[in-house]
Amino acid sequence: MSTKPNSIASRDVAYCLHPYTNARAHEDKGPLIITHGKGVEVFDDRGKAYIEAMAGLWSTSLGFSEDRLAEVANKQMRELPFYHNFGHKASIPGIELSERILAMAPVPMSKVFFANSGSEANDTAVKLVWYYNNAIGLPKKKKIISRFKGYHGVTIASASMTGLPTNHGDFDLPIANFLHTSCPHYWRFGKDDESEEDFATRMAQDLEDMILAEGPDTIAAFIAEPVMGAGGVIVPPATYWDKIQTVLKKYDVLLIADEVICGFGRTGNAFGSETFGMMPDIISVAKALSSSYLPISAIMISDKLYQGIANNSAKNGVLGHGFTYSGHPVCAAVALETLKIYEERDLFAHAADVGGYLQAGLSQFKDHPLVGEVRGVGLIAAVELIRDKATKANFDPIGKVGSYLNDRATEEGLIIRNMGDSIAFCPPLIITRDEIDHILTRFSAALNKTLEWVK
Ligand code: PLP
Repeated sequence: MSTKPNSIASRDVAYCLHPYTNARAHEDKGPLIITHGKGVEVFDDRGKAYIEAMAGLWSTSLGFSEDRLAEVANKQMRELPFYHNFGHKASIPGIELSERILAMAPVPMSKVFFANSGSEANDTAVKLVWYYNNAIGLPKKKKIISRFKGYHGVTIASASMTGLPTNHGDFDLPIANFLHTSCPHYWRFGKDDESEEDFATRMAQDLEDMILAEGPDTIAAFIAEPVMGAGGVIVPPATYWDKIQTVLKKYDVLLIADEVICGFGRTGNAFGSETFGMMPDIISVAKALSSSYLPISAIMISDKLYQGIANNSAKNGVLGHGFTYSGHPVCAAVALETLKIYEERDLFAHAADVGGYLQAGLSQFKDHPLVGEVRGVGLIAAVELIRDKATKANFDPIGKVGSYLNDRATEEGLIIRNMGDSIAFCPPLIITRDEIDHILTRFSAALNKTLEWVK
């Protein structure tokens, strides 16, 4: 990095504490400063182009130069730059967006509540589940179960639901009443003689055992991503969701589908819940809701929940929850335009089509000496690096080789993301087959450089 004291890089190191960054390493390494974007590419401050094969943070589904979103934001800013939803107030974009999201819902849903981030959406889901269970006279039914390797955000409750060690260590998390059940990664956790279906049965049994051990009358909800994203792109085994939902029904446990990554086309359908046959009571969405051009998230709740919540708000005088920016008109207008563009350009079907091409392209790396598993669905995938193909032994420490590969990919003009030694791919939904070919070529070069280094 430039060490000139007034360079933009030096000022970044001097003034900014970066999320998900080794702060000490950053003092030497400095930032990669992105100045602009076009289509699926972004450009750094020296003009170098990168294919953004992670769509930023699994999120800029329309790429980096969708003028329609800029125009809508500009128009809405001039008309009504801010209004809120407290105390019976509303603005038109929020109403129209709610209506449109509900019309797209994979199962009948009744109401939309807006927040600003995936974390806040998931915190809201937890709070409304607690509120609902109090409303219906089940005050003991409060515990939330999520899964090891699940990712639900970083606020106190959502980080408690997240099942990754870095989100808990030294943060004194998880807080009480947040439990984690098994991670449904068949390739990694399946036993030698266990079929995929038997593994799914065991996952459901683990969940049932946990519910019984804790007492079913204490378990309020199960939250899960249809496909785990930040945990390493883990696609559930066949029959997993059927079996899990049977257990949830048996013990009257609500299902919260965290669609923050899967929502809006990522798996080739509007929602991951459709792809995997999930019937959630609550759905959280963010990221692709606005193609991440502005921060907005939402949860949808079923009518059953709404009725209990409405009763309690009447009893208490108000629903004592809401953010200043819930339903922000500019964010809502941009989100509404995003959803219109998805429909006009049939982008979910496009994602299914080019997603198949990406998965087929990545599967050519299965036999590479560094690769343990290639997995994915639609336009989300991961390649997991391992030290020993036969024993599936990891590199030690996990993440060192993944980070090395990540840096080589950056040199090649490709932005991917290593979660430990799992390398994720989650490009904008607008990506073309040609652009996927470029991703594959650049990834191959980075992988081979990594092999040379490991040897
Ligand atoms: N849920 C899932 C599945 C996510 O992938 C993320 C973020 O990556 C979140 C929740 C948290 O969203 P945010 O970072 O907007 O708080």
